[in-house]
This record gives sequence, structure tokens and C-alpha cells, in this order.
Amino acid sequence: MATCRICRGIYPQEHLISGIGPRHLVCERCGLDRGYISAEEATHLYDDETKRARMVIIGRRFAPFLWIILGWSLWSLFFAGLPLWGKASLVILLISTLIVPVMYFLGGPKYQANLRRLSTK
Ligand SMILES: [Zn+2]
Repeated sequence: MATCRICRGIYPQEHLISGIGPRHLVCERCGLDRGYISAEEATHLYDDETKRARMVIIGRRFAPFLWIILGWSLWSLFFAGLPLWGKASLVILLISTLIVPVMYFLGGPKYQANLRRLSTK
């Protein structure tokens, strides 16, 4: 691990560009911003398309938890007092609250594989 001289970010050694003088201890992002290296030389940076694809995968992984929290909030605010819809939505919420963690753990290897496929190395 090494600290970038310019942005003070801490990165593994291979994320820093090599060289002496102004290139010494500079990360690839800062090196690209300051013109020390070209975009092709920055092998650890993601292009925009890969960045978006990674965000989609990460979003898909964690979105169900957000929906569960939202669902419980809405249920306690609006549906808890209703006799029929309150019970029906409570059952649906309970089932999805039990299923989401299971699906989360079952989807772990696929998620890791997808992220690795979209990594630089
Ligand atoms: Zn930097």
C-alpha cells in the first residue's frame, strides 16, 4: 500500500504509476488528470461503460434490502390499521423479508463472478 502524493488516496503499489520526479508516488487517476500517463497506460481505471455495468450489478445485489425497508415503513404507516389489506400485505412482507436474505446468500458467487468479469485484471 502506498499513499498518492497528490490526492492522498491509499492504493496498492500497482495502482501507482512508476517514475521519478513529478511521477513519483502518483496514482493512475491523478497521473491521468495531470497528463503524466495516457488513458491506455492507466490499466487499473474503469472506462465509463464498465463503471456503469458494475454499478448496475451492485445495485441489483442490494436493492431488495432497500425495498424491504421501504415496504415495512409503508406498511407501518398506512397498512397496519387496515383489517384485510393490512393482514395480506403483512404476509407478503414477512415472506419477502424471509426470502431476500436467502436469495442474497445464494446470489453471492454469481455476484462475485460478475464483478470479477468486469474487473481490470
Ligand atoms: Zn492520486
